[in-house]
Amino acid sequence: MIGKLGAGLAGVLSVVAMFSARAPDATAVSVAQNAGGPSREPLEPQLVADLVAANRVLTLQEIFEGFGHVSVRSARNPERYLLSRSIAPGLVTPADVMEFDLESRPIDQRGRSLYSERFIHGEIYKARPDVRAVVHNHAPALIPFGITGVPLRPVYHMSSFVGAGVPTFDIRRAGGATDMLVSTPALGRELAATLGKGPAVLMRGHGATVVGNSLSQVVGRSVYLELNARIQLQATTLGGPITYLSPDEVEKIRIGGEQNAYSRDWDLWRQQIVEK
Ligand SMILES: [Zn+2]
Repeated sequence: MIGKLGAGLAGVLSVVAMFSARAPDATAVSVAQNAGGPSREPLEPQLVADLVAANRVLTLQEIFEGFGHVSVRSARNPERYLLSRSIAPGLVTPADVMEFDLESRPIDQRGRSLYSERFIHGEIYKARPDVRAVVHNHAPALIPFGITGVPLRPVYHMSSFVGAGVPTFDIRRAGGATDMLVSTPALGRELAATLGKGPAVLMRGHGATVVGNSLSQVVGRSVYLELNARIQLQATTLGGPITYLSPDEVEKIRIGGEQNAYSRDWDLWRQQIVEK
């Protein structure tokens, strides 16, 4: 086959083979035809299906409206991630899922429009090798905590991860007066720095970004972060002292908590989008 393509392409193909032992011949031809450009290897079907489900679940759970996005790190290349083209997340289908490098450049754009805030994802994947999935949302219940300085604190076991700390990113400190969007690599880096090693970061006057070690964890954390905010606000209005989870309780759940992966929720929510 290489002989047919010519000696000039043999080097390209051998490099491709080094990085992708599973690449079928058809893929190799596609790459060769795209020589000098990025790979057009087919995306991972199960990961794409899970990412589509995450988009739909987060819409059904009212964490997303027309905006917001969720990404997942590629399982075969940790230097890439999957994210939909710019479209309402509740409308995402497998054909809308695209691949990006960690500079948030599309691998195979084909004229599709891109989320302007995709740098949130790329810069966090760069800074946090442990992160495998990222959600950015504008859930209304989180906004009061991002604009008042009142910290989110863990109100119950399902959102114990809040006990690790949820800092607030103020884009004004990173970029002066902006349109509030994390639409450059530099702003993405600042957001990732504010997130630090934590599970989530609030964004003043904008929303939040949540990370996880899987799609099920990041979806669960997104849902329960918003619930934690609502419950904390409700508890505050009652006027009495509030007893939050203690650091010891947070740590015990972190080590052994069945709910950390939110796998039972994930199964339920996926079924709900099928039935809908
Ligand atoms: Zn946003």
